[in-house]
This record gives sequence, C-alpha cells and structure tokens, in this order.
Amino acid sequence: MSGSDEVKVRAAVSRGVGMATSIEELVLSAPGVDEVRVAIDACAVCHSDLMFLDGGWSTDFPVVLGHEAAGRVLDLGEGVDNVSVGDRVVVSLIRACGTCRACRRGHDVACTGDLALRNRSPLSDLNGEPVTHGLGTAAFAEQVVVHRSQVAAFPDSVPFEAAALLGCGVLTGVGAVTNTARVGEGDSVVVIGCGGVGLSVVQGARLAGADPIIAVDPLVSKQEAALKFGATHASGPDDTAERLTGATGGRLADHVFVTTAAPGAFAGAASLLDRMGSLVLVGIPAEGLTVDIDPGVLAVANQKILGSKMGTARLAIDVPRLVDQYLAGLLDLDGMVTSRHSLDDIDTAFAEARSGEVIRTVVVFDNADPVAEEAL
Ligand SMILES: [Zn+2]
Ligand SMILES: [Zn+2]
Repeated sequence: MSGSDEVKVRAAVSRGVGMATSIEELVLSAPGVDEVRVAIDACAVCHSDLMFLDGGWSTDFPVVLGHEAAGRVLDLGEGVDNVSVGDRVVVSLIRACGTCRACRRGHDVACTGDLALRNRSPLSDLNGEPVTHGLGTAAFAEQVVVHRSQVAAFPDSVPFEAAALLGCGVLTGVGAVTNTARVGEGDSVVVIGCGGVGLSVVQGARLAGADPIIAVDPLVSKQEAALKFGATHASGPDDTAERLTGATGGRLADHVFVTTAAPGAFAGAASLLDRMGSLVLVGIPAEGLTVDIDPGVLAVANQKILGSKMGTARLAIDVPRLVDQYLAGLLDLDGMVTSRHSLDDIDTAFAEARSGEVIRTVVVFDNADPVAEEAL
C-alpha cells in the first residue's frame, strides 16, 4: 500500500498560547521512506501538551499536539518492516534512527539522526501553509504519519486507551524506575508529584520491590490514588522528611523522583537523599528554572543527579514488557484512565488535565475499522 496519496484528516489545531483549540480539516502527507500512517483510536492528554499550550515551552504555531496514543496501522512507507497494515500500535514521540552513535549504544531517547520528519511536517492546512507536527507526533488527529521507530505493536487484548498510556506517561514513569535509576528490591523511594507519571513511578517502584514508597502530593485525592497504586505511605510536601524517616527507622531515601514540572518540587528534593542516593529528574519544568545544589554535599555523600527523559525507554523493548505486566495484572493501566472526551470536546480534556482533577483524560476517536474502510 505504499506510495499512497495525501489524505485529509480532522485535527485539533492550536493557533497560539492560551487560545481555544479549533477542530480543522488538514492535509496529511503520505508516509515517506521508513514512515507509517496510523489511524488514531485514543490519545491521552499529557502535561507536555499543556506546557506548549500555556507557553511554558516554545513551539511554532499553528501546531497539532498529542503524543501519547494508540491506533491501527493504515499504510507503510518504503522500508518499514517492524509493523504490518492492520496492526494495533502504541504511538510515541520517541524517534530513533537506529544508526547514530546514541542509537548504536541503545540510547534511543538521545538519537541525533537526520530523519526526514525532523526537517519537515507532514501536516499542512487547506491553503498549503505548514502546521507544526507537535512533539513529532500530532496525535490529536484522526491519523498521523510518524517514523517507524515511533510505533510498537500490541495484542488485541489490550484496549486502545490503556495502550495509549504506554506512549508517554507510563513509559516515562516506569522507565525512570527500571531504566534510569535501576531501583532494587528493598530500596527506599520518594515520589514527588502523583499525576499520571508519578503514579507510574509508584507502580514501577512497587514492581521493583522498593519499600518504603513515599508518595508526595499537595492534593489528598492524589495521595489516596498513590496508595491505591502501590505507595506504602503518602504525605503532603511539608511532611515528607518526617514520613520518610518514620518509615525507614531514621534513614533518608535511596531514590527521590521529581515527577512534576511544578517549580517548588525541585527545591528541597535533594535534601531527602541518603548517602549513595540518586535524585531522578523526570518532570520537565518551564524553560529557565534554576535550583541551588550544594556540590560539596553531593560529593561527600556520593549522591547522583539523573536526568530521565521519557524513562530512558526503547519502545521496541519497553512496550512489550509493559504489555506483559499489564496482561499479568501487575500493571494497572485501566485505573489510570479517569475521563474520556471526543476530539470536538478537547478543550474540556485540556482543562481537566490542567486542574489535576483527573489522573489521565483520553481523547477517543470513532474510527470504526479504518483498514477495512480503506480497502473498499
Ligand atoms: Zn508526554
Ligand atoms: Zn539515532
């Protein structure tokens, strides 16, 4: 089916910071070499989408956001052999060329390869003006064109909205525990921020056998959610040290994960670290934030600061592992989806995610059977 023409798709277009989204018909180009076209069934709202919408990070407008998605493969560009037409796939922003130095070392999140989609957007409006391919994915749209490395197949037994979370939030949270920090059995863990990513860190820590797991959030509802997802203790930001030392018999933490972008979360995080401990930076704050760190303390106490972009994940390895854990009942994805909206109602979904009243809100699409439809 390669060599197909461009298609028209409905998409949620953001035209400026703070502006309401408009649902517009856009032109999506055919998949090029090593690219795939996917019909989107579900795309969750992630805080990174809000960072662009609210001006915390800069982007070129107009833009289509959405990067935590799942759908079905419609069309393959030349050279794609990791998925087939009709496959159900997770769609992620992680893009790996497979041949650059970072990719050769297994560091997909650090890929610097010269991919065509890094230089041109597959989206344009009906006048031919380019529309930014938000986070290299643009999945708040009926269909996307992405690089082959951005998709990973999953079995029919996983619902689309659960699989979508594997594209960013859960991949990022569990990956921070297993890939970045390599948490071990019996390690003490503090998780600052209990949104979708924070709860995924909690779940990853539980799967790794960490104990205690102290979940920290100003909202009591989120503390309660963290206890449900596997935290052993929960507290507000002011009581964390006391709760931690109470649970460990006086020790501080082996790992402190900052999973929120809220500026206040970073300031005191290092002070919760025990000797040999690691501070794991998962949440990405607005551009320009700085934090004071005492390097002498870090050196003397053998402590580490670890950046963790997208859980240092490799889609082809991490997605199958997370799917297995979900199907074995070890990883709760269904419980993380607490709200659903149609594409037309996407601004409500953004407002809910912004308010923190949902764990994950998912935009669901009515794509009955796009592969069969296209075959007609
Ligand atoms: Zn995200
Ligand atoms: Zn690469």
